[in-house]
Amino acid sequence: MEEYCEVVGCKNPKFKTVSKKEAEKVFSLSTQKTKVHLCKEHYKKFKKETKEDRKIERLTWV
Ligand SMILES: [Zn+2]
Repeated sequence: MEEYCEVVGCKNPKFKTVSKKEAEKVFSLSTQKTKVHLCKEHYKKFKKETKEDRKIERLTWV
């Protein structure tokens, strides 16, 4: 079974699977599962966004 990116409106093939909790901070998702598939483009964006997120979190939570 072929799997696809689960960002709303995206029809690209799956590149990586990430936790929905993290991914939903960045994207609107079309799944109820706890793991979501992202395509290459969305994964790149996800990595960038969550990296910045963690920096902020670290400052806020320490
Ligand atoms: Zn995508």
